Amino acid sequence: MPAKPPPRTARRISGLAEVLDQFDAVIFDNFGVLSLGDPAIDAGAPALAAVRRSGKPLRILTNDGAKGIEAMLADHHGRGYVFRAEEIIPGYRLLERALARSLSTGHPPAEPPALRTEQVWGVIGLDPLPLPALTQLMIPLTGGGIGQVDTVAGVVFFDTGDWRDADQQRLVASLRAAPRPVIVCNPDLTAPYPGCLSIEPGWSVNQLADSTGVEPVFLGKPFAAIYDVALGDLGDIPRERIIAVGDTPHTDVLGAHAAGIKSLLVETGFTRGRDAAALMEQAGIVADYVAATV
Ligand SMILES: [Mg+2]
Repeated sequence: MPAKPPPRTARRISGLAEVLDQFDAVIFDNFGVLSLGDPAIDAGAPALAAVRRSGKPLRILTNDGAKGIEAMLADHHGRGYVFRAEEIIPGYRLLERALARSLSTGHPPAEPPALRTEQVWGVIGLDPLPLPALTQLMIPLTGGGIGQVDTVAGVVFFDTGDWRDADQQRLVASLRAAPRPVIVCNPDLTAPYPGCLSIEPGWSVNQLADSTGVEPVFLGKPFAAIYDVALGDLGDIPRERIIAVGDTPHTDVLGAHAAGIKSLLVETGFTRGRDAAALMEQAGIVADYVAATV
């Protein structure tokens, strides 16, 4: 994890619109801010409309590894949100680079990454997998493919959908016997759904790291590389003029502050039904602003 930011006190506001004039660009988290699993969060549409009216650029910075960009756009459309493909930045956008780096350290160099048959990786995620040009060349370990885990050169973890406890135990045993690189596209431990919290790849991969000694490579929030992509996209806007809106202290707030941008924590996702201020104090990760909803 990035280092914790210096202590600060969160200012309670009514929502993003109250402070929008102090910023030149907005980075939204999706789950817990704009949507709760499938359904949209009520305040999302007016908040998004206010940003669109202002003409300020926005990006959706998401750890979602379950779907490709086109499928995410379709899901957003179903919720009443219209985005352009280039506005959505998932953690897995860094996968090709991470594979190349992984293959260049401790493995024979491969060009292009993951294409050599002796370097076939395993992949954990739901069909259709994101980044088909890369992932179609990998062995699916979800949905019965776990039997081939001993043959793979490394593992890319996109999503926990259909990933069973028995699959996880088999993966751990295989990596314990023969450690290989693990890249996780979604570092989240959990995600908010109506009525429950899900288990996400970060949870499984942290457990795996604890019991195998393998040091996973994490893509996505709160790590710096994905913020560099998003902020690079936004051009030369001063970082203190960019605000990130999220629902989770350890991803959205920590990542934003490590990247030098401001943060608004909304109470519609991870902290739902609990005392967000107390949770942030407990974590030592306090947002610049806190609001009941976006
Ligand atoms: Mg979230």
